[in-house]
Amino acid sequence: MLRTHTCGELRIADCGKEVVLSGWVQKSRNLGSMNFIDLRDRYGITQIVCDDKTDKAVYELAKTLSREYVLQVKGTVRERSSKNTKIPTGEIEIEVKDITVLNPSKIPPFTIEDNTDGGDELRMKYRYLDLRRNCVKNNIELRHRLAMMIRNYMNAEHFLEIETPFLIRSTPEGARDFVVPSRMNPNQFYALPQSPQQYKQLLMVSGFDRYFQIVKCFRDEDLRADRQPEFTQIDCEMSFVEQEDVLQMFEGLIKHLFKQEKGLELGTFQRMTWNDAMKYYGSDKPDLRFDMKFVELNEELQGKDFKVFNDAELVVGICAKGCAEYTRKQLDELTDFVKRPQVGANGLVYIKYNNDGTFKSSVDKFYTQEDFEKVASKFSAEKGDLMLIMAGKAMKTRTSLCALRLEMGSRLGLRNPFDYSVLWITDFPLLEWNEEDNRFYAMHHPFTAPNPEDYPQLLETDPGKVRANAYDLVINGTEVGGGSIRIHDREMQLKMFETLGFTEESAKQQFGFLMQAFEYGAPPHGGIAFGFDRLCSIFAGADSIRDFIAFPKNNSGRDLMADAPNVISDEQLEELYLSLKPVNK
Ligand code: ASP
Repeated sequence: MLRTHTCGELRIADCGKEVVLSGWVQKSRNLGSMNFIDLRDRYGITQIVCDDKTDKAVYELAKTLSREYVLQVKGTVRERSSKNTKIPTGEIEIEVKDITVLNPSKIPPFTIEDNTDGGDELRMKYRYLDLRRNCVKNNIELRHRLAMMIRNYMNAEHFLEIETPFLIRSTPEGARDFVVPSRMNPNQFYALPQSPQQYKQLLMVSGFDRYFQIVKCFRDEDLRADRQPEFTQIDCEMSFVEQEDVLQMFEGLIKHLFKQEKGLELGTFQRMTWNDAMKYYGSDKPDLRFDMKFVELNEELQGKDFKVFNDAELVVGICAKGCAEYTRKQLDELTDFVKRPQVGANGLVYIKYNNDGTFKSSVDKFYTQEDFEKVASKFSAEKGDLMLIMAGKAMKTRTSLCALRLEMGSRLGLRNPFDYSVLWITDFPLLEWNEEDNRFYAMHHPFTAPNPEDYPQLLETDPGKVRANAYDLVINGTEVGGGSIRIHDREMQLKMFETLGFTEESAKQQFGFLMQAFEYGAPPHGGIAFGFDRLCSIFAGADSIRDFIAFPKNNSGRDLMADAPNVISDEQLEELYLSLKPVNK
């Protein structure tokens, strides 16, 4: 071994020990008669000192060592005269006997510090250096810890970790597949899995009973901010279960992680139907770290002279506690916020509930103080509160108001990343109507079972109203996981495919192997998948998943370090029976 200890290990009790450390030069300072080096490895930083007692040649060498050189240092542990209370090794230093340069380093293109001078692109290009930074390294360590805790929990619950193939068959539905040409099967293609969905269901048919896998999934989607074309799921499936069993099992997993990693005991998770989530928060992933529930005001505000409200399908608002003192400028900012194309509202009406009990509003001329009083009482507003109201088509208005609610939550400091609100959303619609294709799509995926109360009558008469036996886990306004009880009955699966516009023939062609398997005794089963990268970011209180992936892609799906994707040689193309087409963009 090129070391006896790590750079994070030595303490005051080790004074007098002869040690060998290896690591990178974080910093080197020459103070004339003394030379200090901060030596860094994964475990921490230890101060190395050369002074007048140090061998002359070693001292001279120490002066020449710059950032990121890899060194082996031999010396004696001694107590520091000026201690650094900020780091665990801050009470000691190493009095140098000898230094070996294991490898020199070029000057890194950015500083390897938490507060670095490197921009996003540069750090992506030199990701291996970015990973040396403490804050990024900590994220990768967190990810490892969570992965271990997940495996422990799942193992204790008798789940088997089973690998499923990466080269699979392309299936319609869901997102776009990444495809891989097959050299041995000319003009044929594999797809990379968007999830192991069908395989995990087959494992249930095989009798494995409880399966999980921490697994890469691939989706060729237009990248929105903070999406990665390859990402990791904690993918799970169980046999002989109903929805309640799955929720209990995985509520247990999430609680286990919070307990182990953060020492937090989470209570029973709140549950909310999809309908209520949309109605009261305008989102299927409401952030419940704060309340600010929607209040519908059609009754109170329609039928007066204000045309905008009279013409609207829905008049709905939120009440911001203690914001009645908002200035003209602040209110204009909020109006501009809701008018941004991302939010897309036409405008915003405010009603201030002044401290003297009067009301002041942007629509004063259409309403009396009594009208406003009714509105205030519907909100249970108090003096000093600000009511913000929007109107229009119901769904659109709810989603716009959701954006405003989150903005107000942020402005009021109600969205602390280290407060956690965890809830289940249930009773999703089974199907989603697509105007363009004039057909239904499965909201979750085509293997999701309908809610038994709605099947089969409603599927025949009003498919759009059928609820799914599906659930999502939401933490702090982010969807962290989702799953469903599956269809295990071949007839029901056929009916579902039919509703989705497949003929029996085309369904057989696309999903034949799964449907065939269902003829050989498929047990009732269900499962869930969690976004592992996202879960890690939530545990760290971070917004972006990128820093929890050792080698992520940028927003255009590129690996800037390896410069992928890239062209392949003519020979490779030839072998694969591929020819290139000119790109007109
Ligand atoms: N395979 C699903 C997904 O990736 C999750 C599940 O239903 O288990 O969203």
